[in-house]
Amino acid sequence: MKIKRQKQAKKTISFYKYNFNFRQPFQILLDGTFCQAALKNKIQIKEQLPKYLMGEVQLCTTSCALKELETLGKELYGAKLILQRFQVRRCPHFKSPVSASECLLSMLDKTNPHHYFVATQDFTVTTGLKSIPGVPLLYIILNTIVLDKPSQSSLDHVQAVQLGELVSPAQQQSIRSLKEEQGISGKGGERRGKKRKRKQSNPNPLSCLKKKKKGPTLQLKKPEEGEKKKRSRHKRRKTDGQVTAICSLPSMVKLKL
Ligand SMILES: [Zn+2]
Repeated sequence: MKIKRQKQAKKTISFYKYNFNFRQPFQILLDGTFCQAALKNKIQIKEQLPKYLMGEVQLCTTSCALKELETLGKELYGAKLILQRFQVRRCPHFKSPVSASECLLSMLDKTNPHHYFVATQDFTVTTGLKSIPGVPLLYIILNTIVLDKPSQSSLDHVQAVQLGELVSPAQQQSIRSLKEEQGISGKGGERRGKKRKRKQSNPNPLSCLKKKKKGPTLQLKKPEEGEKKKRSRHKRRKTDGQVTAICSLPSMVKLKL
Protein backbone atom coordinates (compact mmCIF):
# COMPACT_ATOMS: atom_id res chain seq x y z
CA MET A 1 0.00 0.00 0.00
CA LYS A 2 2.78 2.37 0.98
CA ILE A 3 4.67 1.78 -2.26
CA LYS A 4 1.52 2.32 -4.32
CA ARG A 5 0.81 5.59 -2.48
CA GLN A 6 4.37 6.78 -3.04
CA LYS A 7 4.22 5.86 -6.71
CA GLN A 8 1.00 7.81 -7.18
CA ALA A 9 2.52 10.81 -5.42
CA LYS A 10 5.61 10.66 -7.65
CA LYS A 11 3.42 10.60 -10.74
CA THR A 12 1.37 13.57 -9.53
CA ILE A 13 4.45 15.60 -8.57
CA SER A 14 6.03 15.06 -11.97
CA PHE A 15 2.74 16.19 -13.55
CA TYR A 16 3.01 19.52 -11.71
CA LYS A 17 6.72 19.81 -12.35
CA TYR A 18 6.35 19.25 -16.07
CA ASN A 19 3.11 21.13 -16.75
CA PHE A 20 3.13 23.91 -14.15
CA ASN A 21 6.83 24.48 -13.55
CA PHE A 22 6.90 23.36 -9.91
CA ARG A 23 10.42 23.27 -8.44
CA GLN A 24 12.06 22.42 -5.13
CA PRO A 25 11.84 23.57 -2.42
CA PHE A 26 8.11 22.95 -2.76
CA GLN A 27 6.06 25.74 -1.17
CA ILE A 28 3.45 24.20 1.12
CA LEU A 29 0.74 26.54 2.30
CA LEU A 30 -0.86 25.09 5.46
CA ASP A 31 -3.84 26.07 7.56
CA GLY A 32 -5.03 25.24 11.06
CA THR A 33 -7.31 22.41 9.99
CA PHE A 34 -4.41 20.45 8.51
CA CYS A 35 -2.28 20.99 11.62
CA GLN A 36 -5.17 19.88 13.82
CA ALA A 37 -5.63 16.68 11.80
CA ALA A 38 -1.87 16.03 11.90
CA LEU A 39 -1.90 16.45 15.66
CA LYS A 40 -4.84 14.05 16.09
CA ASN A 41 -3.23 11.43 13.86
CA LYS A 42 0.23 11.95 15.38
CA ILE A 43 1.77 12.96 12.05
CA GLN A 44 5.00 14.95 12.19
CA ILE A 45 4.44 17.38 9.30
CA LYS A 46 8.06 18.55 9.08
CA GLU A 47 9.36 14.98 8.84
CA GLN A 48 6.61 13.37 6.80
CA LEU A 49 6.04 15.93 4.04
CA PRO A 50 9.58 15.97 2.57
CA LYS A 51 9.61 12.14 2.60
CA TYR A 52 6.25 11.87 0.93
CA LEU A 53 6.95 14.55 -1.69
CA MET A 54 10.51 13.26 -2.18
CA GLY A 55 12.09 16.68 -2.01
CA GLU A 56 12.81 19.80 -0.02
CA VAL A 57 9.78 21.65 1.28
CA GLN A 58 9.15 25.15 2.58
CA LEU A 59 6.28 25.14 5.06
CA CYS A 60 4.35 28.39 5.26
CA THR A 61 1.05 29.93 6.30
CA THR A 62 -0.60 33.35 6.52
CA SER A 63 -1.33 35.69 9.40
CA CYS A 64 -5.07 35.31 8.71
CA ALA A 65 -4.85 31.53 9.25
CA LEU A 66 -2.98 32.10 12.52
CA LYS A 67 -5.47 34.70 13.73
CA GLU A 68 -8.38 32.43 12.99
CA LEU A 69 -6.84 29.72 15.18
CA GLU A 70 -6.37 32.24 17.99
CA THR A 71 -10.03 33.19 17.92
CA LEU A 72 -11.18 29.57 17.90
CA GLY A 73 -9.85 29.04 21.41
CA LYS A 74 -8.27 26.33 23.54
CA GLU A 75 -9.32 23.34 21.48
CA LEU A 76 -7.03 24.41 18.67
CA TYR A 77 -4.14 25.59 20.83
CA GLY A 78 -1.98 22.60 19.82
CA ALA A 79 -2.63 23.24 16.15
CA LYS A 80 -1.73 26.89 16.63
CA LEU A 81 1.58 25.91 18.25
CA ILE A 82 2.43 23.84 15.17
CA LEU A 83 1.28 26.41 12.62
CA GLN A 84 3.12 29.34 14.17
CA ARG A 85 6.46 27.58 13.64
CA PHE A 86 6.06 27.96 9.89
CA GLN A 87 7.01 30.93 7.75
CA VAL A 88 4.28 33.58 7.58
CA ARG A 89 3.69 34.74 4.01
CA ARG A 90 2.37 38.20 3.25
CA CYS A 91 -1.28 38.38 2.38
CA PRO A 92 -3.30 41.42 1.32
CA HIS A 93 -5.35 41.41 4.56
CA PHE A 94 -2.82 43.05 6.84
CA LYS A 95 -5.25 45.62 8.21
CA SER A 96 -8.43 43.58 8.26
CA PRO A 97 -7.88 39.79 8.59
CA VAL A 98 -10.26 37.46 6.78
CA SER A 99 -11.09 33.78 7.31
CA ALA A 100 -8.30 31.28 6.64
CA SER A 101 -10.19 29.76 3.72
CA GLU A 102 -10.72 33.13 2.03
CA CYS A 103 -7.10 34.09 2.65
CA LEU A 104 -5.65 30.85 1.23
CA LEU A 105 -7.74 31.19 -1.91
CA SER A 106 -6.62 34.80 -2.36
CA MET A 107 -2.96 33.67 -2.05
CA LEU A 108 -3.44 31.40 -5.05
CA ASP A 109 -5.04 34.05 -7.22
CA LYS A 110 -6.25 32.67 -10.56
CA THR A 111 -3.09 30.92 -11.71
CA ASN A 112 -1.17 30.00 -8.52
CA PRO A 113 1.87 32.06 -9.61
CA HIS A 114 3.96 31.15 -6.52
CA HIS A 115 3.47 27.42 -7.09
CA TYR A 116 1.88 26.64 -3.74
CA PHE A 117 0.86 23.20 -2.61
CA VAL A 118 -2.12 23.66 -0.30
CA ALA A 119 -2.45 21.49 2.81
CA THR A 120 -5.93 21.76 4.28
CA GLN A 121 -8.90 19.79 5.61
CA ASP A 122 -11.22 22.72 4.91
CA PHE A 123 -13.87 21.75 2.41
CA THR A 124 -14.51 25.31 1.25
CA VAL A 125 -10.82 25.67 0.35
CA THR A 126 -10.58 22.33 -1.45
CA THR A 127 -13.66 22.99 -3.56
CA GLY A 128 -12.41 26.50 -4.33
CA LEU A 129 -9.01 25.12 -5.32
CA LYS A 130 -10.40 22.71 -7.82
CA SER A 131 -11.41 25.53 -10.13
CA ILE A 132 -7.84 26.89 -10.21
CA PRO A 133 -5.53 24.97 -12.53
CA GLY A 134 -2.16 23.88 -11.15
CA VAL A 135 -2.76 23.67 -7.40
CA PRO A 136 -1.62 20.41 -5.75
CA LEU A 137 -3.80 19.59 -2.76
CA LEU A 138 -2.65 17.77 0.37
CA TYR A 139 -4.96 16.38 3.03
CA ILE A 140 -4.92 13.80 5.80
CA ILE A 141 -7.08 10.71 5.56
CA LEU A 142 -6.85 7.46 7.58
CA ASN A 143 -3.73 8.57 9.49
CA THR A 144 -1.79 9.43 6.34
CA ILE A 145 -1.01 12.46 4.23
CA VAL A 146 -2.40 12.19 0.71
CA LEU A 147 -1.53 14.22 -2.35
CA ASP A 148 -4.72 14.53 -4.35
CA LYS A 149 -4.75 13.61 -8.02
CA PRO A 150 -4.67 16.60 -10.41
CA SER A 151 -8.07 18.32 -10.56
CA GLN A 152 -10.17 18.37 -13.72
CA SER A 153 -9.37 22.06 -14.24
CA SER A 154 -5.63 21.21 -14.16
CA LEU A 155 -6.11 18.40 -16.65
CA ASP A 156 -8.24 20.61 -18.90
CA HIS A 157 -5.63 23.35 -18.77
CA VAL A 158 -2.83 20.97 -19.76
CA GLN A 159 -4.89 19.57 -22.61
CA ALA A 160 -5.66 23.09 -23.85
CA VAL A 161 -1.95 23.94 -23.78
CA GLN A 162 -1.12 20.77 -25.70
CA LEU A 163 -3.71 21.63 -28.32
CA GLY A 164 -2.13 25.05 -28.68
CA GLU A 165 -5.18 26.92 -27.38
CA LEU A 166 -3.33 28.31 -24.38
CA VAL A 167 0.18 29.34 -23.49
CA SER A 168 1.39 27.72 -20.28
CA PRO A 169 2.53 29.97 -17.39
CA ALA A 170 6.10 28.78 -17.91
CA GLN A 171 5.94 29.70 -21.59
CA GLN A 172 4.38 33.06 -20.74
CA GLN A 173 7.29 33.83 -18.43
CA SER A 174 9.90 32.90 -21.00
CA ILE A 175 8.10 34.97 -23.65
CA ARG A 176 8.03 37.97 -21.29
CA SER A 177 11.72 37.69 -20.51
CA LEU A 178 12.57 37.32 -24.18
CA LYS A 179 10.52 40.42 -24.99
CA GLU A 180 12.29 42.39 -22.28
CA GLU A 181 15.69 41.28 -23.54
CA GLN A 182 14.90 42.35 -27.06
CA GLY A 183 13.15 45.56 -25.93
CA ILE A 184 9.86 44.69 -27.58
CA SER A 185 7.72 45.58 -24.54
CA GLY A 186 6.70 49.22 -23.96
CA LYS A 187 9.28 50.11 -21.34
CA GLY A 188 12.02 48.18 -23.05
CA GLY A 189 11.29 50.00 -26.30
CA GLU A 190 11.81 53.37 -24.69
CA ARG A 191 15.06 52.23 -23.17
CA ARG A 192 16.20 50.88 -26.46
CA GLY A 193 15.44 54.20 -28.15
CA LYS A 194 17.59 56.04 -25.64
CA LYS A 195 20.41 53.57 -26.11
CA ARG A 196 20.24 54.04 -29.85
CA LYS A 197 20.69 57.78 -29.51
CA ARG A 198 23.78 57.29 -27.35
CA LYS A 199 25.19 54.76 -29.76
CA GLN A 200 24.71 57.13 -32.68
CA SER A 201 26.63 59.91 -30.90
CA ASN A 202 29.60 57.66 -30.27
CA PRO A 203 30.20 56.09 -33.66
CA ASN A 204 29.65 59.34 -35.60
CA PRO A 205 33.29 60.58 -35.38
CA LEU A 206 34.55 57.19 -36.47
CA SER A 207 32.26 57.13 -39.48
CA CYS A 208 33.43 60.67 -40.36
CA LEU A 209 37.01 59.48 -40.40
CA LYS A 210 36.16 56.69 -42.77
CA LYS A 211 34.40 59.13 -45.07
CA LYS A 212 37.52 61.34 -45.18
CA LYS A 213 39.58 58.40 -46.37
CA LYS A 214 37.05 57.38 -48.92
CA GLY A 215 36.35 60.95 -50.05
CA PRO A 216 39.65 61.78 -51.78
CA THR A 217 40.04 58.32 -53.26
CA LEU A 218 36.62 58.57 -54.85
CA GLN A 219 37.26 62.09 -56.17
CA LEU A 220 40.68 61.36 -57.60
CA LYS A 221 40.73 58.23 -59.65
CA LYS A 222 44.44 58.11 -60.38
CA PRO A 223 45.70 57.77 -56.80
CA GLU A 224 43.12 55.06 -56.27
CA GLU A 225 44.57 53.13 -59.14
CA GLY A 226 48.01 53.67 -57.73
CA GLU A 227 46.94 52.32 -54.43
CA LYS A 228 45.37 49.36 -56.09
CA LYS A 229 48.59 48.75 -57.99
CA LYS A 230 50.62 49.02 -54.82
CA ARG A 231 48.32 46.61 -53.08
CA SER A 232 48.41 44.21 -55.97
CA ARG A 233 52.20 44.42 -56.06
CA HIS A 234 52.35 43.48 -52.41
CA LYS A 235 50.04 40.61 -53.05
CA ARG A 236 52.03 39.51 -56.04
CA ARG A 237 55.23 39.61 -54.08
CA LYS A 238 53.70 37.53 -51.42
CA THR A 239 52.19 35.08 -53.83
CA ASP A 240 55.42 34.97 -55.80
CA GLY A 241 57.26 34.09 -52.63
CA GLN A 242 54.76 31.42 -51.83
CA VAL A 243 54.83 30.08 -55.32
CA THR A 244 58.62 29.92 -55.37
CA ALA A 245 58.61 28.26 -52.03
CA ILE A 246 56.10 25.70 -53.20
CA CYS A 247 58.06 25.20 -56.43
CA SER A 248 61.28 24.77 -54.55
CA LEU A 249 59.86 22.09 -52.34
CA PRO A 250 59.25 19.47 -55.01
CA SER A 251 62.64 20.18 -56.46
CA MET A 252 64.16 19.49 -53.07
CA VAL A 253 62.18 16.33 -52.87
CA LYS A 254 63.28 15.38 -56.32
CA LEU A 255 66.87 16.01 -55.33
CA LYS A 256 66.52 13.78 -52.32
CA LEU A 257 64.83 11.07 -54.34
ZN1 LIG B 1 -4.90 37.03 4.71
